[in-house]
Amino acid sequence: MGLREEKLLQTYFGYQQFRPGQKEAIDFIINGNNILAVMPTGGGKSLCYQIPGLALEGTAIIISPLISLMKDQVDALQALGVAATYINSSLSPEQQQTRLRDISLGRYKFVYVAPERFESSFFMRVLHRIRISLIAFDEAHCISQWGHDFRPSYRSIIPQLQQLPKRPVMMALTATATTEVIEDIQQQLHIENVVNTGFERENLAFHVIKGRDKRAYIQSFLQERKEESGIIYAATRKQTDSLYDQLETQGYSVAKYHAGLSEMDRKRAQAAFIHDEKQLMVATNAFGMGIDKSNVRFVIHYAMPMNIESYYQEAGRAGRDGEKSDCILLFSPQDIQLQKFLIEQSNMEESVKQAEYRKLQAMINYCHTHSCLTDYILGYFHASLKKRCGRCSNCVKRQEKVDMTEEAQKILSCVKRMGEKFGVGMTAKVLKGSKDRKIRQFRLHTLSTYGILSAYTERELTEWIQFLVAEQLLATEEGKFPTLKLNQQSVDILKGKRTVWMFTAPMPTNDVADYH
Ligand code: ADP
Repeated sequence: MGLREEKLLQTYFGYQQFRPGQKEAIDFIINGNNILAVMPTGGGKSLCYQIPGLALEGTAIIISPLISLMKDQVDALQALGVAATYINSSLSPEQQQTRLRDISLGRYKFVYVAPERFESSFFMRVLHRIRISLIAFDEAHCISQWGHDFRPSYRSIIPQLQQLPKRPVMMALTATATTEVIEDIQQQLHIENVVNTGFERENLAFHVIKGRDKRAYIQSFLQERKEESGIIYAATRKQTDSLYDQLETQGYSVAKYHAGLSEMDRKRAQAAFIHDEKQLMVATNAFGMGIDKSNVRFVIHYAMPMNIESYYQEAGRAGRDGEKSDCILLFSPQDIQLQKFLIEQSNMEESVKQAEYRKLQAMINYCHTHSCLTDYILGYFHASLKKRCGRCSNCVKRQEKVDMTEEAQKILSCVKRMGEKFGVGMTAKVLKGSKDRKIRQFRLHTLSTYGILSAYTERELTEWIQFLVAEQLLATEEGKFPTLKLNQQSVDILKGKRTVWMFTAPMPTNDVADYH
């Protein structure tokens, strides 16, 4: 069996050896066991179902939410001489019918469909009739409401599958999944086995840039990286439009993409970027799911996204070809307000909102930690490197180590004196000695810690508090207005049992551009 898989890899795909996790996942399927494969973007998930699909008798059904990608995948398989097709709403009813007829005659080894297709009784009848080699759920995190891209249509496939005369072997694939999501996928699809290759993308260097004029930063960055292809993610459509206008006026080769544009404009922009007719893409997060462009050298986030899952997925669109690439997040404190607003305005259930606030806090912490950024992200997915990557902005820039234990003690004792009832903003105001109306209202100006760090700006103080939170030296209670609470680490610092180090280093203008 094993040799056969290797032979398929070589003869069909022209590759000499499997990438980590591929062979294992393939073996599970070939032996009739369901499997969840968690692999990083560009890790080679498609081969995990394509090889068993070739090796096994019958038709493989690939469920993908990415209509844009189906055609590419099918074209690629056809080019290899494999009978493959797709059915989705982009086809005329006649085309759909012809393809369905050919599927029911068993003429295809691979059929790509969108999840909604399972709502069609005609399609279900075809599935009843044919021999199915396997069913693959691509982008399987869409099945879980704990994931960042939940699609109800994905979940409604499950009861439909139960009606099939014989339950086919199933494979779920995803690049981003927290423990919660992994467990949910397993439970939903009755999958016992997981192949998890970890997430590290060794060619990506992460950077967090704070306290800089974002537009000026982008401009100097682009000056340094003239020939390279990159994506700039903005937080809103309006921001996308205005950034696009600016770059376009400055003569950059740039396309834009957001949900407010017509389908035609979006398609055109996407194609221009993918085919290197446009060098840059300015977009909201509507752009990118399933975009298979290998030579994206950088992904810049103009504002902080809502959670680490989204960030890692979006940033991960850089460097799919394995070449060194940069993922840059431009942070400003207003980004937090925007994300909170978006959660508050959404019509999610209260419990889901709370979970979103929790995820947002982890994202905020990413922007303030002085630890290795790669390790922070992987740790979030419970796959910590337990070492420093040596590439991210925190690893590269940690020249100057400053003892800030005394300041930390002042901050922590202020939190304590404020009764652990207030958030970052108010605490910074008290430390600064601000004359804000609310301070008087709550009589916080009478505290002994009022104005105790008045030599610093409110912004610096905010930054320090966020740093303490990010390093888990201070806790936050979750929710829309997270209040600061002391934890065991805080107590140790207050007792002088622990030293607090901060790494400060000046950021030269072209710091990221100089990286390679
Ligand atoms: P994913 O879906 O995990 O993001 P893909 O399946 O699109 O990744 O694969 C990414 C790229 O890696 C593709 O160009 C694919 O042909 C290539 N690839 C996959 N497996 C191998 C392998 N074993 N050896 C070399 N290249 C591979």
